[in-house]
Amino acid sequence: MSFDLSRRGLLAASALLPLGLRSTKAAPVAGSYKVGTFTVTPLRDGLFPLELSMIPAAEGQAGQDLLREAGLPTKGPSPEPVNAFLIRRGERHWLLDAGCGTVLGPGFNRVTAALAAEGVRLDQVETILLSHLHADHAGGLLTPSRLARFANAELVLQEREVAYWSDAGTQASAPAALSPMFDTAQAVLAAYADRIRRVSGEAELAPGIRALPLPGHTPGHMGVLIADGSERLLIWGDIVHSQILQMPHPDWTVIWDTDPAEAIATRRHILDRAATEGLSVTGMHLASRGRIKRTGAGYALI
Ligand SMILES: [Zn+2]
Repeated sequence: MSFDLSRRGLLAASALLPLGLRSTKAAPVAGSYKVGTFTVTPLRDGLFPLELSMIPAAEGQAGQDLLREAGLPTKGPSPEPVNAFLIRRGERHWLLDAGCGTVLGPGFNRVTAALAAEGVRLDQVETILLSHLHADHAGGLLTPSRLARFANAELVLQEREVAYWSDAGTQASAPAALSPMFDTAQAVLAAYADRIRRVSGEAELAPGIRALPLPGHTPGHMGVLIADGSERLLIWGDIVHSQILQMPHPDWTVIWDTDPAEAIATRRHILDRAATEGLSVTGMHLASRGRIKRTGAGYALI
């Protein structure tokens, strides 16, 4: 089944969300929490109506059963959070991802208001860490006229990510579901062209904040590991798009993965590491933070 990432497609999918889950105003998110001397605040941009067809392996009975057990329609949509994160220490502000902005139609674009509610003006954000350049993470960096929304922020992302989205040859051979994503990625790279910091691998992004490459979903997809004293939090980007479906089935991939086999290997590796180390994790498409437990062939967030 093909997937239409147009406004119309999303609007149609939004209309199918169970009434209580439709986000007509800022959806409540868990408040701020401490990681040592860092304060981390999830910023809810909106809810994405995930159809079962976006995780093709889930279209069989097992996937339908999981949705039904969660009280959802068996074909979806499953309303999935789209989060950015505000990280603060002292007077410093880091934004990790920026939500969809206006590029995926109405229902999103709440990161700016969420920052204002935290007393943070856009021009106070000095550094924006970007897990990857997909539209639901980078669209919020742009105004509706596709200019830089953050006047003073440096943009930090993996060198491989910049290279992938900048390459016209890649675009020609990319999976069809990804083609609408190139417009936004390239507009972001153009709008912030003179203030992009490229990092490579497990770089220190700021004292206590490290990049953790998690390739596969995109080539330069990364998580961010915040550590202070004995406290740690991994914000893992898009390791899962559906907690309900992909935690018990880490081999189920989304249609937006650049390299599905690598995405599976990365997901299995980081879930296993998080379980072994008792690591606290959260993500851009998780409703909460928690620790990872092994369950049979898969995992659970507890
Ligand atoms: Zn995403």
